[in-house]
Amino acid sequence: MAAGQLTVAPGLEPPWWLQEAPLDPELPALEAEVRADVAIVGGGYTGLWTALALKEREPALDVCLLEAERCGWGPSGRNGGFLETYWAALPRLADRLGDEGALAVARASEGAVAAVRGLGDDVWLREAGMLEVSASTAQDAAVERAVETARRLGVAEEAVPLTRSDLEARIRSPRFRRGVYVRKAGTVQPARLARALRRRALAAGVRVHEGTRATRISSGLVQAGRARLLAPEIVVATNAWAAGWRPLARRLTPFGSYVVLTEPVPPLLEQIGWTGGEAVVDGRMFLHYFRTTPDGRVLMGSGSGPIGFGGRVGRRFTHDRATAARAEAGLRLLLPGLADVRVEHAWGGPIDVSADHLPVFGTVPGTRIHYGAGYSGNGVGPSWLGGQILASLVLGSSDEWSRLPLVGRRVRPLPPEPVNFLGGSLVRAAMLAVEEADETGCRPPPGARMVASLPHRLGLRVGTR
Ligand SMILES: Cc1cc2nc3c(=O)[nH]c(=O)nc-3n(C[C@H](O)[C@H](O)[C@H](O)COP(=O)(O)OP(=O)(O)OC[C@H]3O[C@@H](n4cnc5c(N)ncnc54)[C@H](O)[C@@H]3O)c2cc1C
Repeated sequence: MAAGQLTVAPGLEPPWWLQEAPLDPELPALEAEVRADVAIVGGGYTGLWTALALKEREPALDVCLLEAERCGWGPSGRNGGFLETYWAALPRLADRLGDEGALAVARASEGAVAAVRGLGDDVWLREAGMLEVSASTAQDAAVERAVETARRLGVAEEAVPLTRSDLEARIRSPRFRRGVYVRKAGTVQPARLARALRRRALAAGVRVHEGTRATRISSGLVQAGRARLLAPEIVVATNAWAAGWRPLARRLTPFGSYVVLTEPVPPLLEQIGWTGGEAVVDGRMFLHYFRTTPDGRVLMGSGSGPIGFGGRVGRRFTHDRATAARAEAGLRLLLPGLADVRVEHAWGGPIDVSADHLPVFGTVPGTRIHYGAGYSGNGVGPSWLGGQILASLVLGSSDEWSRLPLVGRRVRPLPPEPVNFLGGSLVRAAMLAVEEADETGCRPPPGARMVASLPHRLGLRVGTR
């Protein structure tokens, strides 16, 4: 199979996760005018964790959640299932929030793994940690920074350096040069997690309306077509769709992320020694992320999908063959021991990339409308933290969650459209060319390196790292 030749097209069937764990029966749409104490817009992990945190802290609160499609149909039911804590992002956190802030956020994020474990449902949680591997000389720096930052902050055990032969004890590939091991991370079956959270929320008494798209959000009111939900506290948890919402429009750009999934290949996993269930990412800006499933399939993802224009989320985030082909090419390139396996499924979805690749939480000034978005393709674990923060904002609590430096922080606004789209697309193409050239030992097209370095020089981030 030649690299880059896609064997299945994305967008033609539901993600395999949702086939393996079908959604529960649909809940009725909101039809009339109702009241609640808290309205939550968006039924992915963030909305559901927020609803659960609220009911845990104040069981008598009347919480009503509106979901445009089905809870878990969006990215929460179709992601790669990497359940990360912020220990995996320590250098980025330290850059943006300072050392103290970085440690506080990383520590606070740890509770996600225990919370998922505590759900009780079988969500295929595997707490095997995560490997970040370097697959080119250019990627060595990312691995070194992870190790160096953890050492400097006195938490060396959270980013353990791995030599090439250390790595070979966990996963063998002639491409991998060195790596770093982050112990506090795992994998889940994402659709099972979304389904478990929805069941928990319903059992806790949260009212959920599916097939209900909020069309207007203002103080005290969420309008969904002719239906109205009146609530003094409102939480907007719409992830990539928040890029089209005015208060966050200059803070988020939707990008596409795509995965391919192979047939079960347990004997080949034995051959390459990848039987420990570790999640793996490489050191690219448009990273590859890969993991196994309990029946021995390999999921390979590529965060190199197209950019959205003006916050619109459409088919380019679910039907882009080119990005799925890049994920498949990444599989064959990075794991040559799997060069001949059959890819059976491909799918994609939008991710909400913020200017500095960290989420933003806050309250729209002068209102009680709270928001959390900008996970930048890394929200499975962090959305639990988001739920705790948003619950504190709703309750007006000044506590360990609402005081985290992710809350109310100022982020440099993204350029206006069409500059953001055109500039972002140009830089993305240049970065992809440079990263592919670095990995394969070829020369990138002239000028590509200069264009690819522009965002860094301007203090912006493009890519999904
Ligand atoms: C292919 C892919 C792979 C990924 N892999 C990983 C991974 O391995 N690890 C990781 O940490 N992260 C990963 N992510 C990112 C992760 O899926 C998200 O960060 C996470 O699911 C965010 O949860 P959320 O609840 O904020 O958003 P979502 O799951 O997107 O939920 C938002 C919900 O809001 C609804 N909505 C939108 N507009 C409206 C409206 N107007 N009214 C009502 N409802 C509305 C949507 O239908 C959606 O269900 C991946 C994403 C993709 C697409």
